[in-house]
Amino acid sequence: MEKREQLYEGKAKKVFRTDDPELLIVDYKDDATAFNGEKKGTIMGKGVVNNRMTNHVFAKLEEAGVPTHLVKELSDRETLVKKVSIVPLEVIVRNVAAGSFSKRMGVAEGTQLLCPILEFSYKNDDLGDPFINDDYALALGLATQEEIDTIKAYTRKVNEFLKAYFLSAGMKLIDFKIEFGKTSDGTIILADEISPDTCRLWDVNTNEKLDKDRFRRDMGNVEEAYNEVFERLGLA
Ligand code: ADP
Ligand code: UDP
Repeated sequence: MEKREQLYEGKAKKVFRTDDPELLIVDYKDDATAFNGEKKGTIMGKGVVNNRMTNHVFAKLEEAGVPTHLVKELSDRETLVKKVSIVPLEVIVRNVAAGSFSKRMGVAEGTQLLCPILEFSYKNDDLGDPFINDDYALALGLATQEEIDTIKAYTRKVNEFLKAYFLSAGMKLIDFKIEFGKTSDGTIILADEISPDTCRLWDVNTNEKLDKDRFRRDMGNVEEAYNEVFERLGLA
């Protein structure tokens, strides 16, 4: 598979065309951003952790019945994926209160929620990814009702799988963000990544944060946390 011109450079990944119009190569960087790009930095080795962790998790999700964009891991940082048109929704699941939910709702971080919350943000950097609901998505044509139903069903499956998977490695899945895309034939599949950049993971015994909050909040030991997750998942 030949790597052709760069299509896009995002905050955490570069995306390249290939000689197959249906396939792309994503290349994971060590760049980290937070607060909609206001805070910038480097997390050494993050690209490797996020690439390999995403691929490992996506392969398991496929087995669990969630279709994904994964085609083949090409190197430590590069993966061949199915090209999709990204549905412009950040799909967020919360099991335990944290981050913007705690702020908005006045609920202490770490409070167990009585049931998982599935919420949407409109994926739009200029607007700071505003919180929206199903009606916004429908009214703005971001997705059809059928697509929303599919996305919600897959997302609940992803949450149930990930909760058990991380718990078996000694981590609580507090919340996470995923993205879906549509292939050229309109099929909805899981895309983008699942990593410590996009999940809050706390040690099951000590509640130590093992995710990007260490970077966002200047807590130190950022690289160590990413490596710890990598090791606990048996990927190191
Ligand atoms: P951002 O755009 O938020 O800065 P990244 O640096 O992670 O994020 O850039 C990767 C971009 O590629 C994101 O916009 C993401 O939605 C998009 N993307 C992820 N998977 C695919 C795919 N399979 N096909 C097309 N685009 C994808
Ligand atoms: N998240 C993400 N990208 C975003 C926004 C959120 O990956 O652009 C993830 C974040 O890492 C956390 C979850 O989604 O695991 C919920 O994030 P929240 O809404 O609390 O926002 P934050 O506190 O990160 O601003």
